[in-house]
Amino acid sequence: MIEQWGKLTNDDFDVIDGKREQFLGKLQERQGIARDALTLPQPTHGVPGQLRVALTFDDGPRPGYTEPILSLLAQHNAKATFLVTGIMSERYPDLLRQIDAAGHEIGSHTYNHFRLNTLSEHQQIAEMVRAKVAIDGVLGKSTPRLMRPPGGHFNPQIRDMLAAVGYWPVFWTINCGAYASMPQHDAAAAIMAKMEDGAILLLHNGPDNTLDLLPALMHRLRVAGYKMVTASEIVAGAEVVSNGGPTPIEIEPYATP
Ligand SMILES: [Zn+2]
Repeated sequence: MIEQWGKLTNDDFDVIDGKREQFLGKLQERQGIARDALTLPQPTHGVPGQLRVALTFDDGPRPGYTEPILSLLAQHNAKATFLVTGIMSERYPDLLRQIDAAGHEIGSHTYNHFRLNTLSEHQQIAEMVRAKVAIDGVLGKSTPRLMRPPGGHFNPQIRDMLAAVGYWPVFWTINCGAYASMPQHDAAAAIMAKMEDGAILLLHNGPDNTLDLLPALMHRLRVAGYKMVTASEIVAGAEVVSNGGPTPIEIEPYATP
């Protein structure tokens, strides 16, 4: 599959304008996705007797941040989801491979981290395809199926575009960055007060409060009996956003270097 994506050329992008359907059909054919398979399934309702939470880390990989996050996840025997950009994956391929080798899930966060709602559909598709080519190129396999729009900026047209190129959007139920002004233990307690089975936590693989918060938060999650799993395990193919999920909000903690 990666070979198929790798064959995309600028000529492919040039035909998007005015030939949208043909281009999307070509992408789907290359990705081996039938149109019927793009119908988004219903959300699941948890696993009886289990409390599950997904830790999701946006914007990486990034030296100085990815390594301690991986170390903490290993200490707690936790699996997580990393929504990475294509540009950072190309810059730090070894870190991306480390995330993958540790068994965590890797999703797309676009190539450049532009706000998708400010781009033409042509540019949106290019952001998705180039991210996939970059991530798959580093890992040597076809990887991301989940996609988190930068800053959570989203609309029905972006949803349709993602479905056409074979991605499920994934948002979050708790934005941990909202507690950045609190001491770590207070922040962890405030987040735990909102915790519920199936929660998806927005954290960052970069310079925000994630690294300060994570040890206290993970400790509390374990004590409370939560199993830390990937976002895919929680959404199980569901389209979170259209099923009463969280409303996308503005989050731009820092610019990708
Ligand atoms: Zn981001």
